[in-house]
Amino acid sequence: MPSTDEFTGWLGLDAKSVEGNLVKATFNPKVFTDDDIDIKISHCGMCASDLHTLRSGWGASLYPVVVGHEIIGTITRKGKNVTQFEIGDRVGVGAQCASCLKDDCYECTHDNEPYCTERVFTYNDKFTGTDDVAYGGYALQGRYPASFAFKIPDGLPSEVAAPMMCGGITVYSPLKRNGAGPGKTVGIVGIGGLGHFGLLFAKALGSDKVYAISRSKAKEADVLAMGAEGIIATKEPGWAKDWTRKFDLIVSTANNADMPLHEYLSILKPGGRFVQVGLPEEPIPQLQFGPLVTMNVHLLGSLLGSRSEITEMLEISAAKGIKSWVQSYPMEEVNEVLKLMEAGEAKYRFVLCN
Ligand code: NDP
Ligand code: ZN
Repeated sequence: MPSTDEFTGWLGLDAKSVEGNLVKATFNPKVFTDDDIDIKISHCGMCASDLHTLRSGWGASLYPVVVGHEIIGTITRKGKNVTQFEIGDRVGVGAQCASCLKDDCYECTHDNEPYCTERVFTYNDKFTGTDDVAYGGYALQGRYPASFAFKIPDGLPSEVAAPMMCGGITVYSPLKRNGAGPGKTVGIVGIGGLGHFGLLFAKALGSDKVYAISRSKAKEADVLAMGAEGIIATKEPGWAKDWTRKFDLIVSTANNADMPLHEYLSILKPGGRFVQVGLPEEPIPQLQFGPLVTMNVHLLGSLLGSRSEITEMLEISAAKGIKSWVQSYPMEEVNEVLKLMEAGEAKYRFVLCN
């Protein structure tokens, strides 16, 4: 049984909600436990996953759903086991809000919580072993296990920190794990919310050369301002020829499977890595074995990032003054902003503010 407590949020009631039909209403959060915190939500970034979920693009969603997993707020209540936070602390919650965290879980004890079998996503999911539904951040309040909340460093404004909680960590983790850094040439496919963080973090980690791999050159001025060396436009015929064997690592945030996967792989050096983090609703493009075998390239996927990586990303961002490119809107206007987002208008993340 969920709690009888009432929170207020913007609910998606069916697949049409993605068209800008969220309804402001109350919902019952999970039962409050000694390990939980309640937060008053001040900001929530808008991730493409919110749209996939609202339209049931990855399979039938658990309606009513409250999406939003780039959440910043202040703690208004804490369970008695919560010793790491005080009431009033400013914290962030990302796309994962629980895992088993048991001593005998290989993933949880090896900095790999996103792959725990008891992982709970922040929305469109249920807390393990209960009927309690997880509700996200398009809301005034949220209730989450404190173990997946993160103190936001003082130097990081909330609207800058919000989109890092999912969009940022989803590229920070694979960049870090796959060697982005000095001596490396890194490509980022798809310059949207995740992709713009890909450029910022690949640079912050010290990569020698970082290129945006976009469909056109429309975002050229922006990616140069983000620190990239240049932009590669994949709609230009023969684009891959000049870039053969140039990249050590490519992180792809492409949100559509209609992508030139063979060409992407052809620009990797032998032994290079292609990490897909974008999660299109369509199946992966057909692929020949040839490029994988003859070039020894690694084709990988990656989900979010670990708790320690989130903490590290926030600290590095505060220390280096990394700034997310955001446009902020009152949360009350969420339905209008959803339409702008569907139209691809974000430069590069919309953040809703209460
Ligand atoms: P955005 O819409 O902000 O950006 C997606 C970008 O993909 C676009 O800006 C575009 O870049 C590029 N793109 C779109 N169509 C194509 C295409 N046909 N071929 C190549 N590139 C294309 O989305 P987000 O950054 O918020 O999210 C990206 C994806 O990542 C989504 O599928 C989302 O669900 C997923 N995701 C995955 C996570 C994980 O843990 N793995 C976590 C969070 C999100 P351009 O115009 O430069 O070509
Ligand atoms: Zn997300």
